[in-house]
Amino acid sequence: MGVTLIGVPYDAASSFLRGAAEAPAKIRRVLFSPAGNLWTELDADLGAPGALDDAGDLAVPEESAAARAAITAGVREVLDRGGRPLVLGGDHAVTLPVIEGVHAVHGPVAVLHVDAHPDLYDEFEGDRFSHACPFARIMEAGLARRLVQVGIRAATGHQREQARRLGVETIDMAAWVAGARPILDAPLYVSVDLDGLDPAFAPGVSHREPGGLSVRDLIGLLHALPAPVVAADVVEYNPRRDVDGVTAVVAAKVVKELAGVMAR
Ligand code: MN
Ligand code: MN
Repeated sequence: MGVTLIGVPYDAASSFLRGAAEAPAKIRRVLFSPAGNLWTELDADLGAPGALDDAGDLAVPEESAAARAAITAGVREVLDRGGRPLVLGGDHAVTLPVIEGVHAVHGPVAVLHVDAHPDLYDEFEGDRFSHACPFARIMEAGLARRLVQVGIRAATGHQREQARRLGVETIDMAAWVAGARPILDAPLYVSVDLDGLDPAFAPGVSHREPGGLSVRDLIGLLHALPAPVVAADVVEYNPRRDVDGVTAVVAAKVVKELAGVMAR
């Protein structure tokens, strides 16, 4: 069993706009469209038998604790069969239960997190499991050996303090433009919030933050990752905010190249 897509149509932890739950179906439609093909830029054929499996969408209830339990169980099922889950969110709150499942099988792994936002709030509008909080919970619980954040450009004072307290390594956009790049080690988990990209490339997100990564920056970062990447997620695509489906195409491209890297 190889890289396995798992759709997680869940956006009840979003603080501002719903819509990310509609993403998995839209991403799959582009990924498997006859308008393209399943060869990656690094010469992997994801259309070959067994190269890319699809576990379909999880049935995820609205209620937070029940949702997290369902997500962890769904991810565990794929991991226990020897697969490498590639989760299609959903909002970023899904990453906590996904990494709980990964931790149960692989122990604490290194995490690369691409995002405009650190998602390190202790709580957001009274919710400790908001999509603004997952990486605080992950670090407090010792679920990650390292957390390296790339693309950050909307940190608050509180989140900078949280990053220091929790030992988070940050390559913000200013550092990225100055040439800083993450030095990562495996086994690795990769979490891509599509708002890490500049909204010029990916307008279909709930929280547009100008001044971000290009699609080529992100693909180059993914291609340079060490192996193995044992699991990953691509989250926060919001079709209700998209413009002529361009962000769905970007999301599918990111998923394809990430799947190719995970297959190594
Ligand atoms: Mn995020
Ligand atoms: Mn974000």
